[in-house]
Amino acid sequence: MLSHIRNFSIIAHIDHGKSTLADRLLELTGTIEKRKMHNQVLDRMELEQERGITIKMQPVRIRYQQGGEEYMLNLIDTPGHIDFSYEVSRALRAVEGVLLVVDATQSVQAQTFTVLHQAQDLGLTVIPVLNKIDLPSARTSEVREEVAALLHCEKESILEVSGKTGQGVAELLTALVERIPPPQEEYVGKGTRALVFDYEYSQHRGVVVYVRMLDGTLSAGDPLVFMATGEKFEVLEVGTFAPDPVRAQELSSGMIGYLVTGIKKAGEARVGDTLTSPSRSLPALPGYQAPKPVVWASLYPESQDDLVTLRQALSRLRLSDAALSFEEEASGTLGRGFRCGFLGMLHMEIISERLRREFNLSLVITTPTISYEIVHSDGSSETVYSPSQFPDDRTFTAVREPWVSVRIITPPAYVGAIVTLAHEHEAVVNETENFGPTRIALSLHMPLRELMRNFFDELKSVSSGYASLSYDMFDMRPADVVRLDVLIAEEVVPAFARVVARRRMQREAEDAVAKLKKLLPAQLIVIKIQAQSCGRIVAAERISALRKDVAGYLYGGDITRKMKLREKQKKGKKKMQQIGKVTIPQNVFVQMMKER
Ligand code: GDP
Ligand code: MG
Repeated sequence: MLSHIRNFSIIAHIDHGKSTLADRLLELTGTIEKRKMHNQVLDRMELEQERGITIKMQPVRIRYQQGGEEYMLNLIDTPGHIDFSYEVSRALRAVEGVLLVVDATQSVQAQTFTVLHQAQDLGLTVIPVLNKIDLPSARTSEVREEVAALLHCEKESILEVSGKTGQGVAELLTALVERIPPPQEEYVGKGTRALVFDYEYSQHRGVVVYVRMLDGTLSAGDPLVFMATGEKFEVLEVGTFAPDPVRAQELSSGMIGYLVTGIKKAGEARVGDTLTSPSRSLPALPGYQAPKPVVWASLYPESQDDLVTLRQALSRLRLSDAALSFEEEASGTLGRGFRCGFLGMLHMEIISERLRREFNLSLVITTPTISYEIVHSDGSSETVYSPSQFPDDRTFTAVREPWVSVRIITPPAYVGAIVTLAHEHEAVVNETENFGPTRIALSLHMPLRELMRNFFDELKSVSSGYASLSYDMFDMRPADVVRLDVLIAEEVVPAFARVVARRRMQREAEDAVAKLKKLLPAQLIVIKIQAQSCGRIVAAERISALRKDVAGYLYGGDITRKMKLREKQKKGKKKMQQIGKVTIPQNVFVQMMKER
C-alpha cells in the first residue's frame, strides 16, 4: 500500500493560487461532488471564505487512477501569509513533497523563498509550478528562468498550469505520482507511531488530532500515549479527510488522517508530539519548535461580566491554534483581562475577529507592542510585554529590544526607494543578491519595533506592490526608547500607553493628542488631553464643554421622545469606559489602535 501513497503540500505566496489549484485537483479526481464544489473549497472557516485567505492548513485525501493503479494522494493546503508560517512548517513535516506554486504574473516572492528553504532542509521533493498562465499579463518564460535559477533545476521540469481553467492540471497529477517518493516505514512490524501535526477541538468528541502515520496501523479501541505529555487514552474513532472527516476502519503507515481522543483537557495534546502504543513504544520524533509570539496586546472584555467567557474562548481557540498564548492580568481602569501573544498583526486581527464572531464578545484591545528587556541598575533584568509596565523613570541602566533579519525580494527598479525606506526604519542593509533578470534579493537587519511601524504597507507602496518580505527573529540589541503615556482629564489611560523611539517621541505625542481630540465626543466638562513622557507633559489639547443637555435641543414637549433618547444613552454607557469624569466610547480605543 505504501507504494501507492503520495503525501504533499502546496506552498506559495499569498494569492498565488494555492487554494484554487487545490480546487481543480479535487474536481478533476472527483474527490468533491460537482454540486458541492465552490471556490476555495478547502478554506472552511467563514472568515477564510469572506477574506479570501487561508488561515489554517487543511488536509484532504484524493483517490486517483493512473495506469490502471489506484493512488491515494494526501494534500495539505497551507496559508501563505507570513504570520501563519508556523502552520506551513508543521505541514511540511507530514509530507514527502511540495508543489511550489508561483504566480506567472508576479514571480517569486520573499515568503515563498523562505518556505522553500525549509522544504529543502527537510529533504522534500519540490515540484515547481507556474500558475495563472491563462492571464494575458503572465510572463511565463521570464518567470520560468527565475524559478530555475532559484531552484537550480532544469527549466523543463517546471510545470505550467491554470488553476482557473484547469489547463495543465492532469499533467500535474501525473508528475505528482512520478516525482514525489512514496512514504517509508522506519520500524516495520515493531509497533505503531504517528506524528501529531495539527488538532482541533470538538465540543462532544474532545480533542481531534491530525496525524501522519509513520509506523504500524491504528484503529478505534487502540490504547495510545502522547510521548511528550505522557497522557494516555483509547482511540474513539479514526478517519481521513474528504475534506470532511470520514470514518475509516484503520489508518495504516504513510497515511494522513485524524483520530478522536475524547480528551477534554487543554494542554494534553500538542502539535509535534509523537503518538505510540504504551506497551510497544518507539522512539519519539524531534518535535516542533514552539512558535515565539512577536507582538503582544491586552484584551479586556468590555463588560467584566464577560471575563469568564473570554477566558473560555481563548482556551478554546488555543486548542486549534498552538501559536496563541495568553495570561491573565489586571489594569486599574480596564478591569481584568488577558495579555496575549501573537505571531504578527494579522494573527492578532484574526484572533480578535474570531472572538467577536464565534463567541459574541465585545473587547477593548490595547495598542500592540513588542517585548523589551530592561536591565536595572542592580544588574537584574526583566522582560516587559506591556507599555504600562515599562518603567517611566531613570532607574534602569539599559533597554534591549528584538531585531529581525529581513529578506526583501523586488524588481531592480525599486531597490533605491526600498533602501531609503529601510534607512528611515533604522535598518542596516547587509547585501543584495541577483537572481534571474527581474529579481533582486535584499537582506537587512532592523528593530522589530520598526518593522511593526507599518513597514509592510510602506514597502508595498514604494514598490507599487511588487516587493515582498519575510523575516526571522535575529538577536537582542540596545534600544533608545521611552514610554509615552496619554492622560485624559489628568488621568493616565493604560490602554493608550506605548513605547516609542526617543527620536520619534515628540511626533507621536502630538499625533496621539490630536487624534484623540478628533475622536473624543465633547462632554459636559472641558476635557484636557495630554501626552507625558519621562515625567513631563510633552503635548496637550483640550476639548471645550458641551453647553446643553443632549436632549435639550429636541423642541416641543414630547416627553416620551426624550425618555427614549435618555434610555438609549443609558444603554450606550455600557459600551464606554469611565476615566475620572470622562467617558470614553469603545470605538475610540479601536480607532486609536488603527493606522499607526
Ligand atoms: P492562495 O492565497 O494562494 O490560496 O490563492 P487563491 O487560490 O485564493 O487565489 C487568489 C486569487 O487568484 C483568486 O482571486 C483566484 O480566483 C485567482 N486565481 C487563482 N488561480 C488562478 C489562475 O490560474 N488564473 C487566474 N486568472 N486567476 C487565478
Ligand atoms: Mg488559500
